[in-house]
Amino acid sequence: MLERGEVANSWRTERWDSLRLLTPNWQSRLPGLRYEGPDPDGYMTVGEVIAFIERFAAVTRAPVRTGVTVTSVRPADDGYHVTTTRGELSCRAVVIASGACNQPSVPQFAGAVPPSVEQLTPFDYRDPAKLPDGGVLVVGASATGVQLAAELQRSGRPVTLSVGEHVRLPRTYRDRDVLWWMDASGVWDQRYDEVEDLTRARRLPSPQLVGTPERTTLDLNALASMGVELVGRWAAVRDGGALFSGGLRNVFSLADLKMNRLLGTFDEWVLTSGRDAEFGPPERFAPTRVPSSTRLQLDLGSGEIRSVVWATGFRPDYGWLDVPVVDAKGQLRHEGGVAGRPGLYALGLPVLRRRRSTFMCGIEDDAREVIEHLARYLAARR
Ligand SMILES: Cc1cc2nc3c(=O)[nH]c(=O)nc-3n(C[C@H](O)[C@H](O)[C@H](O)COP(=O)(O)OP(=O)(O)OC[C@H]3O[C@@H](n4cnc5c(N)ncnc54)[C@H](O)[C@@H]3O)c2cc1C
Repeated sequence: MLERGEVANSWRTERWDSLRLLTPNWQSRLPGLRYEGPDPDGYMTVGEVIAFIERFAAVTRAPVRTGVTVTSVRPADDGYHVTTTRGELSCRAVVIASGACNQPSVPQFAGAVPPSVEQLTPFDYRDPAKLPDGGVLVVGASATGVQLAAELQRSGRPVTLSVGEHVRLPRTYRDRDVLWWMDASGVWDQRYDEVEDLTRARRLPSPQLVGTPERTTLDLNALASMGVELVGRWAAVRDGGALFSGGLRNVFSLADLKMNRLLGTFDEWVLTSGRDAEFGPPERFAPTRVPSSTRLQLDLGSGEIRSVVWATGFRPDYGWLDVPVVDAKGQLRHEGGVAGRPGLYALGLPVLRRRRSTFMCGIEDDAREVIEHLARYLAARR
């Protein structure tokens, strides 16, 4: 196992200070290691995640070589030739486990934002003090965007949140964590070959969730109540101004509709599993409130906005992979983690084998199936 940094590198170097997992502690499970602390329903801090993964590496005696960056993997006669910052090696098979979130995705028009406005990605952000005083435009209302918008608004900086397509979820539903429902109802176990539109499912943004001791819901209604101003999707920069799409009403009602559909799936599961007595009654939440008027443009030179935080998602980096298996959008072409060339595999990508694949609790089943394939491949060659 080659790792350019230390064990749990992404958690050490690419996360902000206040982040907690949005998955509850009992869902932090890796093959043979589970959370066994006093607070199974709590949410790990970044430090706790690092300690958990370090423990996993120690318990499993994973043969990790840290401080080794892979700079090239290319096909060779008998498998692959790997170049690293610490020398060359050959192998029959490669498992790409380099992560799905190596780089923040930032739209090209970021280059047209006036230099007087500071720009940050979640990789640069550590805490509000990193930003100048004054207004902040947070772009993107998925997990990262809603969490940073709330933290920045609480720091006294007026926040404008640019909202595109998003996944709304309540933190708790019928007395349980909403991710408990995803788990128990089987929604998270839906397999990649059963998903209707796999490309879309793999591009789905993260849910609007935050892990706090109070188990608060952090949806757009909560943010608006805190004073965050909501605007539409940031579409372009023209003459030093940000232009936002209209139609927030449609964006909101689509997210509400999808949330209600999902809650309906949970309710159906309760009925069919005969467990009705275990839970509170079905709940439905207030629709997302549409602001009475929304701004369609914002002058970035007026001084109102002093910084922009791009919470517009992340993408993988395969710049080191010299095998033609990456598509024009920079995504790896693979079928359930089996990439388009013999002996090449991947783990840890969105909906790799099931909906839970990107989460820590998704790796065990995915890894078992992918490694079974890899073992068969090696055995056949022998
Ligand atoms: C902001 C954020 C919040 C998240 N919150 C949660 C959550 O609450 N719960 C949850 O279950 N999941 C969460 N996730 C998803 C989380 O990232 C995964 O669950 C998990 O960390 C993925 O592990 P991984 O090993 O596949 O990828 P990563 O953690 O990204 O690890 C990949 C490793 O590969 C190394 N690497 C990359 N390129 C090279 C190279 N060329 N040479 C050598 N080494 C290389 C990197 O240094 C890194 O250590 C979150 C992700 C993000 C971005």
